[in-house]
Amino acid sequence: MKLPSIDHIPVPEPLKEPVERSDLEHRDLDDSEFWKRIPAFRHVTPDEFLDHRFQNRNSAKSPQDLKDLLRDLAPESFLEDVEEGMRLAPMAMRISPYILSLIDWANPYHDPLRTQFIPVASTRLPDHPALTLDSLHEQADSPTPGLVHRYHDKVLFLPLDVCPVYCRFCTRSYAIGTDTEEVEKVDYKPAVERWDRAFAYLASRPEVEDVVVSGGDTYMLPPQRVRYIGEMLLAIPHIRRIRFASKGPAVMPMKILSDRDWTDTLVELVAKGRALHKEVVLHTHFNSPNEITDITRRAMDVLFERGVKVRNQSVLIRGVNDDIDDMITLVRRLSFINVQPYYVYQHDMVMGVDELRTRVADSVEIERHVRGTTAGFNTPTFVVDAPGGGGKRDVHSYDHYDETSGISVYRSPSVDENRVYLYFDPIDRLPEEGRERWEDPEQHPAMVAEALSEAGLEDLEPAATVPDALVPA
Ligand SMILES: *Cc1c(COP(=O)(O)O)cnc(C)c1O
Ligand code: SF4
Repeated sequence: MKLPSIDHIPVPEPLKEPVERSDLEHRDLDDSEFWKRIPAFRHVTPDEFLDHRFQNRNSAKSPQDLKDLLRDLAPESFLEDVEEGMRLAPMAMRISPYILSLIDWANPYHDPLRTQFIPVASTRLPDHPALTLDSLHEQADSPTPGLVHRYHDKVLFLPLDVCPVYCRFCTRSYAIGTDTEEVEKVDYKPAVERWDRAFAYLASRPEVEDVVVSGGDTYMLPPQRVRYIGEMLLAIPHIRRIRFASKGPAVMPMKILSDRDWTDTLVELVAKGRALHKEVVLHTHFNSPNEITDITRRAMDVLFERGVKVRNQSVLIRGVNDDIDDMITLVRRLSFINVQPYYVYQHDMVMGVDELRTRVADSVEIERHVRGTTAGFNTPTFVVDAPGGGGKRDVHSYDHYDETSGISVYRSPSVDENRVYLYFDPIDRLPEEGRERWEDPEQHPAMVAEALSEAGLEDLEPAATVPDALVPA
């Protein structure tokens, strides 16, 4: 493409210092054959590695698979730690070769990708007393299995229970993936009969304009199933916006390049939606700038060229992206490849992964530094999905926050005017006084009562998922 040149125009004297190389770090995308670091992939060609079938076939699903793929790359003691970690984990293991190859195996304990997908026993913390398996109360807000109707005009549809990877921190560990020694899952098999019941419900609810197709993961649905869901939803006149959610671009970007049927199907649905004046978009889930390589850029370029809007929802995770510079790099790198940063979630109160949670204070501070570093429309909103079904709240919008007990108090009038929703910071990150009070169960309802009273909300009832032992008499 021929574009005009401005080489002949004198450059005005700048008022700012020249930028440092590190300020442009977000544009350095790995275009090497990085997978060759993994012993089992040493002879894998770019064509093979870029094939999504290779990625699916060679995903690691157990500690033994990890050993077979990594051979002597990871220390024996680390692999033993993983084996023990898996015995306690609420999520099954599944890691794509793409992600496996991007982990720094010289330092796996501190790697942001290892931290997301591979549990180790040695860093495990006891669960917070306020934790429950379905902390978001999704099953209670479901008129039919796999459909969550909590807000007025938007719903969450869960068509299936498998993903291209399994994240340790998954909010839906009550349903997603195969059963583990710790958790027997609710069954959300991709059954068309169940889907049809969800569509019939949606057709009967004129207020619903917005459908999130999450999961599970749209990547794992064959193209004809993606088309079925998309067309059934587009056929309901009052539905105006459809988001397909997929972790895929973050963990297996090559599928966009190599699974032509799948990509074409998504593009077709976007085009059909556009003809009906309805928005069909892809929502994805990058958490670390290390997940974004030149392969990702090429995949996102294809979607951009073909008119597919992509937005990103991250989770703030300790040791993954709870560092100001890393979060700024993530936001800029996403913007650079035309993925719009939409949300950064406070880590949900999920069982078995307290070591991955941060304090509300950390979210607040990181948000403060991120806002202003790039375009406002590429600046994510930092939210807490209020435990107990309060829905997403701006992390700054608490009525009260006690950094010693770690309790933050939120209201969510659009969901329920008469309730308060509480988030509890991880205990190990509290000051000593707070940690001591959590050691004494008699102090638990007292801390909740204090937080409600400081908020001036003692007349409201805490959300149903707050365990009885914590509710003030
Ligand atoms: C997140 C979510 C939605 C979509 O919410 P947005 O803020 O519009 O992204 C819809 N329903 C449920 C139950 C959700 O958790
Ligand atoms: S991709 Fe999403 S739904 Fe699947 S395991 Fe990860 S967080 Fe859970």
